[in-house]
Parts: sequence; C-alpha cells; structure tokens
Amino acid sequence: AAAAEEPITPPVTVPHTQLLINGKFVDAASGRTFQTLDPRTGELIANVAEGDAEDVNRAVAAARKAFDEGPWPRLPAFERQKILLKCADLVDKHNDEIAALETWDNGKPYEQAAKVEVPMFARLFRYYAGWADKIHGLTVPADGPYHVQTLHEPIGVAGQIIPWNFPLLMFAWKVGPALATGNTIVLKTAEQTPLSALYVARLFHEAGLPEGVLNIISGFGPTAGAALASHMDVDKLAFTGSTETGKIVLELGAKSNLKPVTLELGGKSPFIVCEDADVDQAVELAHFALFFNQACACFCRTLASAAALDLVHSCTKKYTTNLLRKPRRVLQDAQSAIHSRPALNKALRYTSNKSFLTLTNSGSANFLKAGRVDSEQFEKILKYIRSGVECGATLETGGERHGSKGYYVQPTVFSNVKDDMLIAKDEIFGPVQSILKFKDLNEVIKRSNATRYGLAAGVFTQNIDTANTLIRALRVGTVWVNTFDIFDAAIPFGGYKMSGHGREKGIYSLSNYLQVKAVVTPLKNP
Ligand code: ADP
Repeated sequence: AAAAEEPITPPVTVPHTQLLINGKFVDAASGRTFQTLDPRTGELIANVAEGDAEDVNRAVAAARKAFDEGPWPRLPAFERQKILLKCADLVDKHNDEIAALETWDNGKPYEQAAKVEVPMFARLFRYYAGWADKIHGLTVPADGPYHVQTLHEPIGVAGQIIPWNFPLLMFAWKVGPALATGNTIVLKTAEQTPLSALYVARLFHEAGLPEGVLNIISGFGPTAGAALASHMDVDKLAFTGSTETGKIVLELGAKSNLKPVTLELGGKSPFIVCEDADVDQAVELAHFALFFNQACACFCRTLASAAALDLVHSCTKKYTTNLLRKPRRVLQDAQSAIHSRPALNKALRYTSNKSFLTLTNSGSANFLKAGRVDSEQFEKILKYIRSGVECGATLETGGERHGSKGYYVQPTVFSNVKDDMLIAKDEIFGPVQSILKFKDLNEVIKRSNATRYGLAAGVFTQNIDTANTLIRALRVGTVWVNTFDIFDAAIPFGGYKMSGHGREKGIYSLSNYLQVKAVVTPLKNP
C-alpha cells in the first residue's frame, strides 16, 4: 500500500487555537474560525480562530503599547538575552511535542521536524540571544568641533508574515532578530499551518517575554495579512512567500505609511553539474535539494554539461525509481550523505520508542500541503507536469499523485527540457525536476541568470577555476559549491532580483530591525 495511506495517530491534542494578543489567547473579534487540515489525509485537525483587520488592530495596539511604554525595548540588553536563552531552553524541553504538532499541521516527516527543524529553531534563538548585547553604534569623525555618534535603536512594531513550508524556522528567522534588537511584533502565520507558532509563543511567555511583545494572528492573506501590511502603526514589515504576494505587500506598505519591507520570495535555482563533477554525489544532492521539502531555494533546474548528461540521466533514474519504491529509506540515504550536518545525521540514526512516532513520515519525503480544501497547490503542480509532457519534455519518472489520500505528488523528473518551457521557467513549488543540457561555461552562466529570480545556485565541479568563475558570475543570494541547503543561523539568506529584498539570518538580519540615529553635540574644548 502507498505509504501516504498509513494510518495516522494524532500525536498531541492541539493546545492552542485562539489568537495570541497582549499575552492572552482570545477568540477572533468576529468569532469566526477556519479549518486547519492534515495534509496527509485532508482531514480536520482543528478549528482555529480566524483573525481579520479588527484583530490586527488589537494586536498592533498591544505591540505599540509594549514598545512605547513597556519594558522590552528599555530592558538592559543582557536581560533580553536571558529571556531569549530561556525561550530556547523551553523549546528544547518540549522538542517532541512541538515537532509532532509541526508534522501534523504541515505534513513533513517527523524526524525532520524533531531532529532538525525544532533544534535549529532553538539554535537560531540562541544565536540571536548572542547578538542582543552586542548592538553597537559608532563614533563618527566629523569635519568640525562636534562629537558625533550613532545610536542603533529598535525600529518599533514589526509586522511579519510567513508561509507554510517551514512554519517554525520562518518564525525564528523573523522573530529572532526582531526580539534581540528590542522590537515588538505582530506575526501572521500561514493559514495552512497556524498551530506550532501559537505553541512556541506560549512557551516564550512562560520564559518571561512581557505581554504585548509577541502577538500571533492566525488567518488569511488578503484579510489579516493585508491589514498588517497596510497598518499605519506598523513600523516595519517582513514577508516570506510568493513573488506575486511580495509585490502586493510592498505596495500596501508604500501606500500606507511607507514602512520598510524585507521580502524573501520565490526562486528557480539552477543546479549546475559540470563535466568534472562527482556526478553521483551531485545527483544525489540534487535529489535531496529538490525532493526533501518544498523550499523556495529548491533546485528544480538541473543544468548538466553535455559530457555529464548521460551519467546524470542514469543516476537520476536510479535515485528517483528508488525514491518511488522506498521513499523513506532513500531519503535517509540521501541525507546521510551530508557529512557537514551532524544534527541531520544524528536524526537519521534516531530510532524512537515514543508512541506518537507512529505518525512519522507518511512514507514520503515529497509532501505537499495543498492550499486548503480545494487542494489548489496540488492541482497546480499536476498541471505543470501535464504542460511539461505536452511541450515535448521527456517524463523520465513520476508525474502522478502519490497514494490516494492527502496531497502528495510523486517525485517527478523531466529530461530534454528547453529553457522556454513553463516547467523550466516558473517556480512550481512541487517535486518536479527538469534536466537541461549545456555546452560551455559562458552558456550556462547566461542561461542560469536568464531568470527573474536570483535566490540560490548549486555548483558541482572539482575545478577551482570553474567554481570561482561561476561563483562570481551567478546573480544569486547564495552559491553552494559541492554542497547545498546549508542553512546555519549565521549564514545570511535572501535573493537578488525578484527573489527579494534584504537578508535574513546572520549579522545582516539585524539591520532590518534597527534604526540609526545620528547624534551631534558641539565640543567646547576640541
Ligand atoms: P505561498 O505560495 O507560500 O502560500 P503566499 O505568498 O500565498 O505564498 O503566502 C505567504 C504568506 O502571505 C501567507 O501567510 C499568506 O496568508 C500571506 N498572504 C497571501 N496573500 C496576501 C496578501 N494579499 N496580503 C498579505 N499577506 C498575504
């Protein structure tokens, strides 16, 4: 039987379904709720309070008050640091429940949530806690008898909107730097995955976060999301999601109070396999990169040099066939190949005796939580696959629904793909890989850059000159060379071109949440 049809035992009862405003769980002002569904079965998990403009108003008012009058921005930095460290400790303590909730609501494999994403979440908060007491201004050598300095101040109330693919990590990328720098927050979660954020936010209050500092609104984009983006009292907006919605929120921000907006948007990342690459490794990593989770940095364009093409084809076929036959096992093999990620490797050696682990994995790495009941995203992927076939690309493997329940798509590989086909151009946000052929470096650089996106690229070569040429020529925010998807807390992430504005994670993310105030005082005795 298809693994997606394995029975599922709910891992935990859903602890929180209300909005979190001013430190309290409350119903939506309208009293309305919406359903969050289990992507593996399409069945109801819980009815969740549906926030709208009025709830956003209440949350922003709470965040405003916490910023203008509350202790948070005024606390000695090391006190904020202590609270953030405590948040991370509590997350560690509740690791398994949080992971189970994330799996249930999002559909990702349990091991991935429990052994990689929740620990990474705690790691990110420890990383940002480390910055809290290291925000320095400068003294400036001005022309004249003045003492000039800069103060780096929190920007105020941050509005944050996140997607469904990594609900917890997206939360950490946004909330971490904003809190470390002393801001207050209204976060709108994705309508598909509202649950884990409510749970961790409650833990944060247990850790001592003052009320009103972190408010969580569940609800939909055009209502709650748009209300947040256009709010006059939100001082900064951070958004992760599709490029289309990115344009909308940027416009809403500009039309309201011209709030600065950071955007982390779509990608169509090239994965370049040169003729001198370790092809076996490259193909294995290409598979992991695309099929392991629906990330915006997923590598759906594999550009193989003419010399390596046959080898790429045969390896790809081997891996994908295995993936279809024994999805979980092959995923684990692929993951084990990544030596630089000890946490991941540990995860994969992990065997648990905890009963709720029976729900793990649903057998497939290639989950796809579709947009609500209408399974919009699922249908969209199948449509792209049909368009690939119609345009004359060769469907090597996959191409169909996986199982008969839930919203899973088989890992799908096309060869003989041309640059102008939709499957090579659009961000599909599904497990669909296109293999294209290239002849020389100049050509592959041109073709890789011939996209409106610029999020990331993978480069596979043993030749340092080839690697350096590609690193410098590719117009993308991240280049992974002979590796991929390394997402440490300290490594900045973001896009060139229509993949976004600004960087998240690392030192660069702090400036998103800081104002610079220049202070000039005359010197009486210079
Ligand atoms: P995805 O394809 O990842 O679902 P979206 O851009 O549709 O990307 O969604 C990402 C986030 O943006 C979600 O939280 C969603 O609710 C929100 N969103 C969608 N439309 C709007 C909008 N018009 N204004 C503000 N937020 C929106």
